[in-house]
Amino acid sequence: MKRLLLFVFVIAMVWPQKSAAWGFYAHRRIDRLAVFTLPPEMIGFYKKHIVYITETSTKPDSRRTLVPGEAPRHYIDIDVYGDSAVYKMPRFWKDAVAKYGEDTLMAYGIVPWHINLMKFQLTEAFKARDTDKILRLSSEMGHYIADACVPLHTTQNYNGQLTNQRGIHALWESRLPELLAHNYDFFVGRAAYIDNPQLRAWDAVTRAHLALDSVLRFEKELTEAFAEDRKYSFEDRNGVNTRVYSRDFSEDYHRQRNGQVERQMRYAIALTGSFWYTCWVDAGQPDLNKMAGISETELQHIKEEAQPQQPVLPVRPEAGIPREVRGKGLAESYFLSCAFH
Ligand SMILES: [Zn+2]
Repeated sequence: MKRLLLFVFVIAMVWPQKSAAWGFYAHRRIDRLAVFTLPPEMIGFYKKHIVYITETSTKPDSRRTLVPGEAPRHYIDIDVYGDSAVYKMPRFWKDAVAKYGEDTLMAYGIVPWHINLMKFQLTEAFKARDTDKILRLSSEMGHYIADACVPLHTTQNYNGQLTNQRGIHALWESRLPELLAHNYDFFVGRAAYIDNPQLRAWDAVTRAHLALDSVLRFEKELTEAFAEDRKYSFEDRNGVNTRVYSRDFSEDYHRQRNGQVERQMRYAIALTGSFWYTCWVDAGQPDLNKMAGISETELQHIKEEAQPQQPVLPVRPEAGIPREVRGKGLAESYFLSCAFH
């Protein structure tokens, strides 16, 4: 049994793979909640297919070791390009290829440019009234947008392996959301039109990268304040007793970072909804309710529900951190996502 535990720990903490994403739990939440940012003309179509949208959000991670060229779509190691590269990097793909060559760009990640490519593809799918494509591309675009919002997706030190902080990737994007997201405030308002999608994708990367220093620094400071046996604990993961960051450590990290993961999830939800909305507008606002077979009565109900928009989850900003993880499925894929990171 001890050997099995050791193996699980090695897989989860010491063998992270490049190009991972938010944990599956967070990806599903982000895509699902993005649906509720949409205007009445869109929300009926997306709500009708919300299960598919939610489940497909993790597909890009599932295939990233199988499909050539998939892995670099999930990140960009912006720090390999030198000081202040996040400001100096060519924003548009052709300019970046001219300066660095495609091989270099593919080696260090292409997430901001891939988001823009998907924006083009989703707009075309709306123009073609292709329901299957609209749904698949919407869901997967939400995945890449969410990845671009993760500070550890913007650095070579993606799992703290260069600073003796291995495992921080899973702490930030899997452990914290799974423990605490049920208490996050996800009322993010309405989707808004994006004037320049390519630059907006870079805004997300820049915002994430600027948070990187504190992501690493606070973990280090907290580690110094925690004894080893308080930093980690064991939990059942898919029937296996697995070493994870302790609840106390995770909650303290959340408080010290002043809800950073929550803010980034909120940002990702709003940005995903806004990208979907922008594609639909640029495609000439096709009648999605007609495509989804939504009746006039249903449409009226949707409009009434959408005016004014209610918070999709209870807003409890003053609430303390709950001591219990509630609800099944919160940890549904932690073990898997750990193994990927
Ligand atoms: Zn990913």
